[in-house]
Amino acid sequence: MNYPRMKFCKLLSELDSEEKARAWIWLAKFDGKEFICPQCGNELYWQHHKNPEIRECKKCHFEVRLRAHTIFQKSKTPLLIWLRAICLVTQGKRGISALELQADLGMKSYGTAWILLHKIREALRQRDEIYKLKNVIELDGAVFGRRQTGNQVEVLVAVETKDWIDQKGRRKPKAGFAKVLVAKENKEEAQKFVDGAFQKNSMVNTDGSPSLVHLENVDVDYQVVGSDPEMLDHWLPWVHKFISNAKSWIIGTHHGVEAKYLSQYLAEYTFRFNRRHDPDSLFFRALGACVHAKPTTSQALCG
Ligand SMILES: [Zn+2]
Repeated sequence: MNYPRMKFCKLLSELDSEEKARAWIWLAKFDGKEFICPQCGNELYWQHHKNPEIRECKKCHFEVRLRAHTIFQKSKTPLLIWLRAICLVTQGKRGISALELQADLGMKSYGTAWILLHKIREALRQRDEIYKLKNVIELDGAVFGRRQTGNQVEVLVAVETKDWIDQKGRRKPKAGFAKVLVAKENKEEAQKFVDGAFQKNSMVNTDGSPSLVHLENVDVDYQVVGSDPEMLDHWLPWVHKFISNAKSWIIGTHHGVEAKYLSQYLAEYTFRFNRRHDPDSLFFRALGACVHAKPTTSQALCG
């Protein structure tokens, strides 16, 4: 799928009506087309004369509802608000908190703003679940949150690294995709993470942690780095950069988050990180994720 590209300020000025929001969701739903009948594949449709959120196949009369099978399903929030929220989540590096979203979009309820953001995060999480890391992967455990408040969470983080050749012909490493799993750093959880998120036989670089050195189905290499920053920069540079930036983001934008919601926040952070080289397509990629995600209920999100 070729995603459209648009600068953030243009996106916000273009997204000015419910009609425009609907049009963009239809296009995202049918991968750039206005209609594809899920039943017969025909592309000609009638617009429902009373309900602009329904299109009917001209051939087999199948009706497609715009919000069905998307994260907007059963939501009463205008689609313009939804799309502006997705836009604000994907702009820049910092995303947006529920409080800021409520103020920016003039929403009456903080709870609705919170639910919107969590449904978007869940869609982004589902989209990233499709990919598997490959090549050389840095893997490490981290602890998020404060010990004093009992709100600490253990997390496993992996970042794939690739070599590229710069203009002077020098070989340089760069980070590819990242994946995160909220789980204790023990052998069992780490193996589950590796089996779910890594391609078989990938190379995995870790520190000397006993739970990470004997992983199966991958080729593990390790160096004991302790907390020496120079060693960390040399051996596991990307995974540590990812962890420290993610921690700063949790504190900076969200002023800390509850342990039970951490994985959703990290899914949002990871989605942006994984597409950082193509910021102008980020909104449309996220919209695609939201339109194709399995819908979740608010109760499921609130745990
Ligand atoms: Zn049809």
